[in-house]
Amino acid sequence: MTERIQQFLHNRRLQGLDQGPCLVVDLEVVRDNFNAFATALPDTRVFYAVKANPAPEVLELLARLGSCFDTASLVEIQQALAAGASPDRISFGNTIKKERDIARAYELGIRLYAVDCEAEVEKIARVAPGSRVFCRILCDGEGAEWPLSRKFGCAPEMAPRVLELAHRLGLVAHGISFHVGSQQRNPRMWDGALKSASGIFTEMAERGIHLSMVNLGGGFPTKYLKDVPAVKAYGQSIFRSLRKHFGNRIPETIIEPGRGMVGNAGVIEAEVVLISKKSDQDTLKWVFLDIGKFNGLAETMDEMIRYPIRTAFDGDETEKCVIAGPTCDSVDVLYEKEPYALPISLEIGSKVLIEGTGAYTTTYSAVGFNGFPPLQSYVI
Ligand SMILES: *Cc1c(COP(=O)(O)O)cnc(C)c1O
Repeated sequence: MTERIQQFLHNRRLQGLDQGPCLVVDLEVVRDNFNAFATALPDTRVFYAVKANPAPEVLELLARLGSCFDTASLVEIQQALAAGASPDRISFGNTIKKERDIARAYELGIRLYAVDCEAEVEKIARVAPGSRVFCRILCDGEGAEWPLSRKFGCAPEMAPRVLELAHRLGLVAHGISFHVGSQQRNPRMWDGALKSASGIFTEMAERGIHLSMVNLGGGFPTKYLKDVPAVKAYGQSIFRSLRKHFGNRIPETIIEPGRGMVGNAGVIEAEVVLISKKSDQDTLKWVFLDIGKFNGLAETMDEMIRYPIRTAFDGDETEKCVIAGPTCDSVDVLYEKEPYALPISLEIGSKVLIEGTGAYTTTYSAVGFNGFPPLQSYVI
């Protein structure tokens, strides 16, 4: 946690504003992350994945730093435009779009679209003529802590057909994209997808269509409880794979970091509402917080993302605790399979700091479930 965040939370407490959980995002950390990506992948353009944290201050900072934006809806496109990004710095990267939304995006000047099937190509050809499209291919997400499943992307064998149709319908068959799964802790996982991409480039060239771009997606991790490799290691590994599969004809590349850009920039302050046991024999304590799955911590689903938790009593003796949210839904348990060691001295009313929460928290709490309001957010 940064000193700026600590100071901000201190002031918030002094003013008596600490009545509910809040996320605080430090823009200086976002700036450092952007610069680290730019250094680790110097010839690659950054398209920040807006869904990770669409706070206007975050988008404005990134726009000023020269970032581009990957968006999934008209609202996100408008957020990126409002932050100062010109339309040529915005991709409509969702493979599942309404035709009327594509038409509106085209009116707004967006000319770069993701597809993963022929029906989507036909929509774009109808209402966004002449645009560039890239075809997303499936990736198994192995090694990722938050895999993105089979929802997006087509089998690599199908991609040439999709891109050839785009070309025939007057679109620019621009390239290939993939996503190796979010919180990908293995920098070598880009290699297989780059091999597939290079095969598609070759096959398309044989059909007289020259692709020029590979979108390397997101997946760059943020540090939670376990250590993760530095972004530099990802840059080196990706560059090695590009050389291996594309030789000296390395295509234009882009990345779409979300979590890796904002995750470690945010800290949530929450409060202990109740500490109890289920029976006299129970060896585990239950610690209930005023934040849970439905007001910000959805990524604790299946205990996939394990956030570091700090308290004012760190260093005291600890015991194993189940950690749960405040709502009346029994799935609103954060960590039970693998309980957390928390200080014995932790009390009802104590504050806890949940670190690494700058990504995928406010967006997942956009609806106030069970009367708990959406997570309040400050960007400083
Ligand atoms: C969510 C998403 C990202 C960001 O993924 P991270 O793992 O957070 O970096 C990038 N690209 C696309 C298409 C996405 O949907």
